[in-house]
Amino acid sequence: MRKVYYIYNPKTRTYDRIYPTRRQRLLSIIRRTSYALGVLMLIVGGLYWFLGTPSENALRIENSELEAQYEVLSRQLDEALGVLEDLQQRDDNLYRVILQTEPISPYIRKSEAGGINRYEHLEEMANAEMIIENAQKIDYLKRQLYIQSKSYDEIIGLCKQNDERLQCIPAIQPVSNKDLKRTASGYGRRIDPIYKTIKFHHGMDFSADTGTPVYATGDGTIKSSGWESGYGITIEIEHGFGYQTRYAHLSKTQVRRGQKVKRGEVIGLVGSTGKSTGPHLHYEVVNKGRKVNPVNYYFMDLTAEEYDQMIQMAANHGKVYD
Ligand SMILES: [Zn+2]
Repeated sequence: MRKVYYIYNPKTRTYDRIYPTRRQRLLSIIRRTSYALGVLMLIVGGLYWFLGTPSENALRIENSELEAQYEVLSRQLDEALGVLEDLQQRDDNLYRVILQTEPISPYIRKSEAGGINRYEHLEEMANAEMIIENAQKIDYLKRQLYIQSKSYDEIIGLCKQNDERLQCIPAIQPVSNKDLKRTASGYGRRIDPIYKTIKFHHGMDFSADTGTPVYATGDGTIKSSGWESGYGITIEIEHGFGYQTRYAHLSKTQVRRGQKVKRGEVIGLVGSTGKSTGPHLHYEVVNKGRKVNPVNYYFMDLTAEEYDQMIQMAANHGKVYD
């Protein structure tokens, strides 16, 4: 509401109304407008102070979204660490047990990349705690994955070695089942066929016709091939991994010393040379310098039933051919 001014006129003894000049009116408008603007600015400023500017609000929203994403990342890292732990368990408690090797020491697995504080540069950041925690998880995961991949390299190496070992250790019968008349005698105390005294039989006798093929029972190298006192014509194979086999009383040898042979390869023929009372193969398995029971070394070519039969025959106290 515009103010109205009057002035007393002594001549007419009345109050005359004063009309403002154009300039005065303009000044008044400017004054009122700036006053209104000032109030408006105060109100808006107060609102901004209270609610934040639009760009601040946008940043605030973005920040909380980032925080949420960080939490999701943290959970995913935990899941990845869980999967890794499962792999480590299987590595230590399955693969390494099968391959008969030591598990990786927890000392190596849990080792920290110690020394200086690697997260110092992150400490100044907003949400530093959360960021450092995730950075630590990522570093830990990276280190564990490296150790795990090295472990798998080692396991692959062990598997190859194991394959070779399985290929080399004696694991089949030296005479085919179809060629056997019967297994004359196994490993253990037996009556000597010639001297009739009790003595230890260190091998297994397979009775078969003269000329029946004799097979190498595992991969290896011919250690000796020729006449041996008592054993007659004899072949010895060096299999490595602590194993040797001996095939005695042959009628003929078909290999030479130093020759490489494969499992199942014919190396000679059954005979009755040396101290023998009839055509048969005397077969010995040596492990780490000791003559062991060959009955435990046919696992590659016998079914469970055949194996049972073999054990029974080997245990019989039938005639020894020596
Ligand atoms: Zn014998």
